[in-house]
Amino acid sequence: MKKTKVICTIGPASLQPETLKQMYEAGMNGARINTAYGNLDQYKRIVNNVRETAAIPIIIDIKGPEIRLHVKRERRVRKGDVLEVGFDQEEISFNHNFYAKMRVADSVLIDNGKIRAEVVEKNDGVLRLSVMNDGEISDGKGVNIPKKQLSVPTLSEKDLEIIEFAKKQDVEYIALSFTRSAQDVDILKSNAQGFEGALIAKIENSEGVENFEGILGSVECIMVARGDLGVEISPEKVPLVQKSLIRACNQKGTTVVTATEMLESMMRCSAPTRAEVSDVANSILDGTDAMMLSGETSIGSYPVDSVAMMSRIAKETEVAVRSQIEEREFTNISDAVSKSIERTCQTAPIDKIVTLTRSGYTAKMIARFKVAPPIIAVTPEQRVRKQLELTFGVYPVHLDYRLEEDRILTIGEKLRSMGLIHDEDIVLFTAASRTNKKHASNLVEIHNVGELMSFMEK
Ligand code: PGA
Ligand code: MN
Repeated sequence: MKKTKVICTIGPASLQPETLKQMYEAGMNGARINTAYGNLDQYKRIVNNVRETAAIPIIIDIKGPEIRLHVKRERRVRKGDVLEVGFDQEEISFNHNFYAKMRVADSVLIDNGKIRAEVVEKNDGVLRLSVMNDGEISDGKGVNIPKKQLSVPTLSEKDLEIIEFAKKQDVEYIALSFTRSAQDVDILKSNAQGFEGALIAKIENSEGVENFEGILGSVECIMVARGDLGVEISPEKVPLVQKSLIRACNQKGTTVVTATEMLESMMRCSAPTRAEVSDVANSILDGTDAMMLSGETSIGSYPVDSVAMMSRIAKETEVAVRSQIEEREFTNISDAVSKSIERTCQTAPIDKIVTLTRSGYTAKMIARFKVAPPIIAVTPEQRVRKQLELTFGVYPVHLDYRLEEDRILTIGEKLRSMGLIHDEDIVLFTAASRTNKKHASNLVEIHNVGELMSFMEK
């Protein structure tokens, strides 16, 4: 089994149950719905089909303060054209109103920077943009206005409807695009009361990078959203930002996803470029927990092959991943115990780690060290089981151990009967014992499974 997790964006190319099944068998660990496209009926169909196929987490990606263009009819533009763009249902308009913040000479990038334009005039609620290269503009294309704080609201009306949908469907994650600060996350939380899943902050502009510390403290998961990030902070800055965000997430045990253009050429070709293969491998070496496919699986011609390719790169590369955790001061018992488990794995022949974890915290704390043995995370919470699908090296299992008298023995026996551990294995068990504290896995027992089984009552 591979350790690096693969998230697939689901769309017209992949929502059929048969395709989803093949993608799951090829290594898909999570399904993402990009709400830039489609409507609630379509999202519902994806949720149903994914749930029928596999017990993997569903991620609903809301667009938050992302800026998009509304265009009544598609058109070609040429270098030198001047476009009038308004903020209120004109022929061409923006989805948010930031007229007051714009100045002459500001640059406006359309469709991932494919069309570059500059503000040449500002009048009566309309911007006149001079286009600097030929291209197409169509409805819904993304817009980047780098390095400007535009004060657009955190959530749109559509986002609020989608949050209600996410609650009703009880999905495992909501991802907030263009998270700019911890305050954006707070606004999402207060509008998502009753949502029991986890939150992903997508870092995709300079504000998100600058305020990263605060954001990291307020979510369960981070996404390095390289598509928009590359336009907002310039592409050559993305590799080092990727490394530093991943490292900070690993340090804290926060799940981190690397996204966008990972196997881009596989939208049209059955094989990736060598540069793409290298990029996927390097994100694993950087310490990412999961990698995401976007167009490759949502609208591309080779959704299943893309997942299979990613899985092959993962299996080949992840054996070389090393921990980058810096030893810092004591934070809590799980932190200390996870450090000692890492050391034990280096010196003792541990085949598997089993962690009894209610919130998933201890599993993540161990996983951040990129330990060699697989981590079997046993949790009584079905939701936590699915969320842990995105964590590197973790194989989550749903079992309720809370009322068991001897939890290590019973769980050992159950995992053995499920074929997850075997008599000849040396297994390191960790759990919280005689404590009601959070984050307090305070017990480690190391057993030969066959010997442990001899303690079962006949
Ligand atoms: P998107 O986000 O696919 O929703 O744009 C990812 C990115 O920008 O990289
Ligand atoms: Mn984006």
